[in-house]
Amino acid sequence: MTSTTESTDCLFCQIVAGEVPADVVATSERSVAFRDIDPKAPVHVLVVPRDHHGDIAQLAAADPELLSDVVALADEVAGDLADGQFRLVFNSGPRAGQSVFHVHGHVLAGTSLGWTPA
Ligand code: IMP
Repeated sequence: MTSTTESTDCLFCQIVAGEVPADVVATSERSVAFRDIDPKAPVHVLVVPRDHHGDIAQLAAADPELLSDVVALADEVAGDLADGQFRLVFNSGPRAGQSVFHVHGHVLAGTSLGWTPA
């Protein structure tokens, strides 16, 4: 879905709307950052636009300024919760590991991160 309207069956739209609880660590006018429920690093925060877009390519095509806002909030979170160094991961598609189809950047920080994913 590329629409910017809220999707009632979307978990992250429900978190943005406050209908599902989340550990929110930062917000901007257009984005929300909350801790991942299954952290893969000492700091593992998801940054999502308040508007619904399915994945990063759809967001970039529809609203590049909003993608920039997501990245800026990720940087702010890494500065507040870690040392400002971070990995920002956008899984795009099921084979890449995307399981929630509301675009989200994983902010991974707080330790030396290994490489590679496979
Ligand atoms: P994906 O696999 O890249 O789509 O990432 C989805 C992420 O959402 C996973 O890392 C999950 O652990 C996380 N997640 C799923 N449900 C919730 C929730 O209710 N609150 C916070 N994180 C969640």
